[in-house]
Amino acid sequence: TPRTSVPDAALTGLRSGFAGEVHVPGDPGYDEARTVFNSMIDRRPAVVAQCASEADVTKALAVARDQELEVAVRGGGHSVAGMALSEGGLVIDLRRMHAVDVDPGAGTARVGGGAVMSDLDRTTQPHSLATTGGRVSTTGVGGFTLGGGSGWLERKFGLACDNLLAADVVTADGISVHTSAYENPELFWALHGGGGNFGVVTSLTLQLHELPEMNIVMLLFRPENGPEAVRAYRDVLESAPDAAGGGCIYITGPPEEWVPEPLVGHLVCAVLLTYAGPRAEARDVAAPLLALEHEAEIVDTLPYADLQCMLDDPPGMRNYWSAEYLDGFPDEAAAAFCAGAATLPVPTNCQHVLFPLGGAVARGPADYPLPWRSSPWAVHPFGVWEDEADDERVREWVRTVRAGMMPWANGAVYLNFIGREGQERVMAGFGEEAYERLARVKARYDPDNVFHLNHNVKPAVA
Ligand code: FAD
Repeated sequence: TPRTSVPDAALTGLRSGFAGEVHVPGDPGYDEARTVFNSMIDRRPAVVAQCASEADVTKALAVARDQELEVAVRGGGHSVAGMALSEGGLVIDLRRMHAVDVDPGAGTARVGGGAVMSDLDRTTQPHSLATTGGRVSTTGVGGFTLGGGSGWLERKFGLACDNLLAADVVTADGISVHTSAYENPELFWALHGGGGNFGVVTSLTLQLHELPEMNIVMLLFRPENGPEAVRAYRDVLESAPDAAGGGCIYITGPPEEWVPEPLVGHLVCAVLLTYAGPRAEARDVAAPLLALEHEAEIVDTLPYADLQCMLDDPPGMRNYWSAEYLDGFPDEAAAAFCAGAATLPVPTNCQHVLFPLGGAVARGPADYPLPWRSSPWAVHPFGVWEDEADDERVREWVRTVRAGMMPWANGAVYLNFIGREGQERVMAGFGEEAYERLARVKARYDPDNVFHLNHNVKPAVA
């Protein structure tokens, strides 16, 4: 039963010696503390424990256990289903634990469990180092990496979790566990896609790479020229070096200087080639795209951390997304993808996205619970809008896009790209065999399923 309060004695106990801050309903900081990225989520936790140290996390977990409060763990708060909040429970809010320490000699970064992408990118960039990060700067490194982690650099450096070298985890019984390929390797394996199922990850150590010059070629097309542009992008990517990435994104033309006036407020097809290498190479690779009739173009070299903000959305919007991973993207699939744009609610902030995979993603360790990594393409209808009156229209659009891509979908799904779509989809996100292995790890580290506000793995029954 959701609780609205916890006994004073329990709160006093939690607050004493607590390095961070504790918020309960009525506190000035409470409403900010229960606000997440998706403004449709309106949950009222009984306690938000904004932890500043591992000891805070242990303490908060103990109070939750004693008071029988449902536990939520918050990193960047970007889960579309609002898994970072519990109704009437206790939230372990990690945002104060956002320090990033770079070891330039080792080429690694130790990242606090509540850091967001910009904390990481802005700290590694001055060392000319980077690793695969999410495409929006406010996404939590924690939830992102533990779920897999897909970003502009993935075809060159692999998924974010492929770059996870070690993690510190506070498990359900309040014990701190260090994990790496050599220590507690089953738990370490489970953190490569298994999300927040196994405990509170207070720090992640990530492999960094020498940061190449980052270039973009971004072209805008009228919707009627979209199919030709999307097919051309597919052809380019199918033979491009791993340095190439990006995607095709149908959007409402934003009111920005580089968008021609007639396209503002209307459906446009944006083709983006990101390139982790010299500008001349980027231009060469993009030549077939640049040769097409287009309405606007940007060819630019830019700091990686700025590229990482390019798709940032304003906060406070309503969200509903889904995704399908495809076995191939023949002309008919491209036509179906573009047809999905025809019903994109305009004007809104909705994005209808085609992402390439391949490269280092496909070559990465096959045994991680990420069966979608071998898919060459992903379609990600990303519903973002402002007006409640559009709720059903956007949801319907997302569902229609998914249905339209089914002939090419392989059923494997990246769970970070979807909300709550049922336990079958969770299984499909891991694959049956991997799910069973995850369930055994879960039984060992969280037998009572304390951490269930996630794409949940049920503990295996002995
Ligand atoms: P939260 O809602 O805080 O957490 C998500 C889940 O992870 C919850 O179950 C939470 O309990 C758990 N969790 C978070 N941190 C920890 C931790 N330290 N220890 C244990 N459990 C934890 N994904 C991509 O791969 N690539 C993208 O380019 C991308 N772009 C995005 C853009 C936007 C605007 C948004 C909103 C999301 C995007 N995502 C992307 C999806 C994103 O990876 C997932 O939503 C991810 O779960 C967010 O993690 P978080 O920490 O921000 O979210």
